[in-house]
Amino acid sequence: MTITAERRVTEASVEDLAGVFNDVNGAVGAARRAFVAFSECSMAQRRAFVDAVREAASQQDRLEYMASAAVEETAMGNADHKVLKNLYAATRTPGVEDLVMEARQGDDGLTTLEYAPYGVIGAITPTTNPTETIICNTIGMLSAGNTVVFSPHPRARHLSAWLVDVLNRAMMAAGAPANLITLVANPTPETTTQLLNHPDIAMLVATGGPQIVNMVLSSGKKAIGAGSGNPPVVVDETANIAKAAADIVQGASFDNNLPCTAEKEMIVVAEVLPEFMAELQANGAQVISDRDDLAKLRSLLLDPSGTKPATAWVGQDAQKILRAAGITPEQDTRLITMVTDPLDPFVQVEMLMPVVPVVPATDYLAAIDLAVEVEHGNRHTAIMHSQDVSRLDLMARRIQTTIFVKNGPSFAGIGINGEGFVTFTIAGPTGEGLTSARSFARRRRCVLDPH
Ligand code: NAD
Repeated sequence: MTITAERRVTEASVEDLAGVFNDVNGAVGAARRAFVAFSECSMAQRRAFVDAVREAASQQDRLEYMASAAVEETAMGNADHKVLKNLYAATRTPGVEDLVMEARQGDDGLTTLEYAPYGVIGAITPTTNPTETIICNTIGMLSAGNTVVFSPHPRARHLSAWLVDVLNRAMMAAGAPANLITLVANPTPETTTQLLNHPDIAMLVATGGPQIVNMVLSSGKKAIGAGSGNPPVVVDETANIAKAAADIVQGASFDNNLPCTAEKEMIVVAEVLPEFMAELQANGAQVISDRDDLAKLRSLLLDPSGTKPATAWVGQDAQKILRAAGITPEQDTRLITMVTDPLDPFVQVEMLMPVVPVVPATDYLAAIDLAVEVEHGNRHTAIMHSQDVSRLDLMARRIQTTIFVKNGPSFAGIGINGEGFVTFTIAGPTGEGLTSARSFARRRRCVLDPH
């Protein structure tokens, strides 16, 4: 295998790519036929196909290619961090073993609760984790016995087509039917609508912003919505301040803050603010306090309405942002921060940039209240640094997020350097939480009557 050869494949016509189709009907029809063939396969075969996906996606040269090609095509993110994200997606997303059958045995017989596939899943993937989501969804959805039609973000379509081709070929080499995963080569709002309404699509899974999540939830079909967040991190006066600052800089600068789970605003009990700011700086955060510099940053990073991020700066490197704003970056800057008030758009809006503000709070209760407010009911992710277990418990109960990280970097919550399985589809709105194979399966009760 050489990436150069595969790169040429992506530049070839769509017809040469395994599983890549120009039109929705072609992609769904092929995945539907693949589903019929896949239904005949044994669990051992299913496992072998999923193993082939893991093995194909975790080869070092492919990991490096996916990372650099994602940065190139989407013009966002950090290639080194994307290598790690793809590796975790390939190796730590649960497979067939996630489908643990429940059984009841008694005088009236044996009843099993099994997992059955939905059929063909339409999966819409984001620009922020383009390959990670395809790898993760392929492993989970196929493990549950489904086949998948992917609709990638237009800004990641070439790389997504390359990956679907690579994964299909790897599975076919392991004996799989063709087209277990397919992809719509040129996604547009029209093709998305067609996919959502296609009679052969049994389930929809949207990983992305509120618009696409609302679209799949209004489709009338079984849908999983994995939407946006605005994760607050609270630091109280009992916290290990040095560790909290180090963890936050790591989490908030990871892949240039593109992960939906990354710390997006810091809420710090005022008593420890000076110490915390010093520790942030010591860990590579550049604190901007000059009014003119702040004004330059705002005008660069917010769109003209002042309420949304300027798309061109989403997922960009901190030093590049500073230079563009006319501010000299320090040598090791990987995060930009400023002390501000709660109404600042940098606090209120999911910016997806390594620009993460600090808001002081009078005490831990005020900090938790503010965190709940700025999370905006997304129920996505929150983080707290505190040595007081009752406060950690209080924030977890008040904020009710799908992921709650205590005394660690945000990425621990999706299983990167944290216990637990890995996922790149976190379904807060529809409640599946961190999705895995069983999230993509129907429950079936099988009853054996002994009488
Ligand atoms: P996005 O919403 O712009 O796009 C996501 C997908 O939906 C893309 O494939 C896009 O083409 C499609 N899409 C969006 N609007 C559409 C429309 N009107 N018609 C047709 N298709 C449409 O999001 P993005 O910029 O790619 O990703 C970033 C967002 O996704 C952030 O809000 C982030 O928080 C969220 N996200 C959530 C998770 C999660 O697991 N919860 C994971 C990654 C990203």
